[in-house]
Amino acid sequence: MSEIHGLAVHAAGAHLLAYKYDPGELQANEVEIKISHCGVCHSDVHLIDNDWGISKYPFIPGHEIVGTIVGVGSAVKDRTMGERVGVGWQADSCGICEWCRQGQEQLCAKAQPTCVGRNGGFADKVRVNSRFAVPLPSTLESESAAPLLCGGITVYSPLRNYEVRPSSRVGVIGIGGLGHLGLQFAKAFGAEVTAFSTSKDKEAEAKQLGAHHFVNTRDTGALKKVAGSFDLLLSTVSADQDWQAYVNALRPKGTLCIVGAPPSPMPILGASLITSQKVVAGSNIGSPHEISEMLDVAARHGVKAVTERFAMAKANDAVTKVKKNQVRYRAVLTN
Ligand code: NAP
Ligand code: ZN
Repeated sequence: MSEIHGLAVHAAGAHLLAYKYDPGELQANEVEIKISHCGVCHSDVHLIDNDWGISKYPFIPGHEIVGTIVGVGSAVKDRTMGERVGVGWQADSCGICEWCRQGQEQLCAKAQPTCVGRNGGFADKVRVNSRFAVPLPSTLESESAAPLLCGGITVYSPLRNYEVRPSSRVGVIGIGGLGHLGLQFAKAFGAEVTAFSTSKDKEAEAKQLGAHHFVNTRDTGALKKVAGSFDLLLSTVSADQDWQAYVNALRPKGTLCIVGAPPSPMPILGASLITSQKVVAGSNIGSPHEISEMLDVAARHGVKAVTERFAMAKANDAVTKVKKNQVRYRAVLTN
């Protein structure tokens, strides 16, 4: 097997530089994927900047990967050469713990992220455990499907797990890579959908993507007006916010689910959860099985990322634009 070429970051916040590594012998349970597209998730930016203290340098970011299988390990029975597959945040898990056996591999204590302690998708090739290379429905285009592999599953999973249905009222907070897919999936589930955004200029597009209503969160009065309105609020924002106002915006038994991690503890009055039996929750990506289901739903309901395409060599430009909240709505690198 030959070397893998990509773009790596060598220190917190540094620019990506050309980088190559020798992946060694292909492991029995691995596939090697020739990458055609890779989305730029904000989690890549958090890893580049070491916001979570888990980054291991040097590493190649990228975990919204689409490509074709060019190498199949000797024990792999579920994938074939030439197959088009996607890979998300997770590249491996133990395969034998209770969570792996339940098909909830995202909860495995030995889960291996695609680009923490390994090299990810800002590259020409990548290797993962074959269980985490998910075939794509033929009707999905690779560029608009790549962001589904992390952004898409992260918003699909809570909609499904909190049982959103046509009578549900759902709010999506932060209309970026995750949020713009959240609007589309919430619409596909039949919900009444509200977009919460700091960017007034996203209103028209948010409505095209599935929002019935738009709340400008720079206007604090606007958040007060929607008190008692939502069954599920899904926050994709990684900044501190007025969490109490969002709890107040829930209906009885409503859930505030965070998928973006705010830097500070969330100040919420316990009493405000009790009488109306409200829930504050978190959600973590989704299993390969759930990704497969999500891709089928996306194909059937026309859910696709709105993308800005960059050549792989221009990955630094894409990362800079993500940091400035200027991408509409997902940067995708192409080889
Ligand atoms: P993104 O494309 O940068 O979008 C984030 C959006 O948040 C922005 O477009 C913006 O939307 C809003 N925002 C940004 N700064 C804000 C601020 N200071 N105050 C309020 N809103 C702000 O990021 P993404 O790729 O969607 O990722 C979002 C977060 O989810 C990241 O923290 C990422 O690490 C996390 N994530 C979690 C999981 C998981 O499994 N839980 C998986 C993937 C990603 P508006 O312009 O509409 O305000
Ligand atoms: Zn991601």
